[in-house]
Amino acid sequence: MQLINGKEISMQIKDELKVKVEELKKEGKEVTLAVILVGDDPASAVYVGNKKKACEYIGINSLSYELPASTTREELLSLISKLNNDEKVNGILVQLPLPKHINEDEIIKAIDPSKDVDGFHPENVGRLSIGQKGFVSCTPAGVIELLKRSGISIEGKNCVVIGRSNIVGKPMAMLLLRENGTVTITHSRTADLKSVTSKADILVVAIGKPKFITADYVKEGAVVIDVGIHRMENKKLCGDVDFDDVAEKTSFITPVPGGVGPMTIAMLMKNCVESVL
Ligand code: NAP
Repeated sequence: MQLINGKEISMQIKDELKVKVEELKKEGKEVTLAVILVGDDPASAVYVGNKKKACEYIGINSLSYELPASTTREELLSLISKLNNDEKVNGILVQLPLPKHINEDEIIKAIDPSKDVDGFHPENVGRLSIGQKGFVSCTPAGVIELLKRSGISIEGKNCVVIGRSNIVGKPMAMLLLRENGTVTITHSRTADLKSVTSKADILVVAIGKPKFITADYVKEGAVVIDVGIHRMENKKLCGDVDFDDVAEKTSFITPVPGGVGPMTIAMLMKNCVESVL
């Protein structure tokens, strides 16, 4: 069994981007990300803080808009429109979730697709489906990067994704398909999940349930990618996979923390840099 070190791989990506941003600066090009946070959700504040830190490390300018929870839909749409029209802004990120009185779908749709570095806009989702270039959701894009940089080939492999969310499961399946994997998507209505997962050469788990996947779900020698992240009662983090039970049966596995998690921000940064290329 080999551990896939997401911390190290994400650092490599950030260092490559740092070099790229320096080159762009020499050509007189700056990369600028606008980050909008609405309300005072503590987890969202931590995510936004981490994104700003990564920007700083790479040399990306970050503009921060911290708005009160009482912000109206109109105020938020007006800020997005201003940023869409600002030539200096390359990427726009609205931290989710938004307060309940604001419709997230409407806000995502208002972002110019060419600045949608989260890859959530329906145009970018559609582009992924029909094989055109566009921004791709950062977490599944990070999984592909982890596989490639660990020398794991996807072509012709039996790939099973557990979960069909718009942010992880569905784009994950489309990306594995783009890499010529033979892809099965499973979800809460899948009959006999174990019989499907135990045939997977590559198993990507995004189920949102702590330590749900045990050794009996996994084929001997499979590659297991754990997207889940949960804080346990003892304050430690764990994934959707029962790592201690599963690890020995795998050829490669991502740990939690230090697997998929750090890749999400690295891929966001990659999207920001690509927005000026
Ligand atoms: P989500 O929206 O809750 O989706 C979970 C998916 O799992 C759904 O499609 C659901 O099926 C399916 N599911 C639930 N119970 C199941 C069962 N018993 N058997 C088979 N499938 C089942 O979650 P998400 O946003 O995709 O996130 C998944 C996990 O990844 C979470 O732990 C989240 O915290 C984590 N995450 C991590 C990162 C990161 O940066 N590392 C980023 C995003 C998310 P239905 O569609 O039928 O309900």
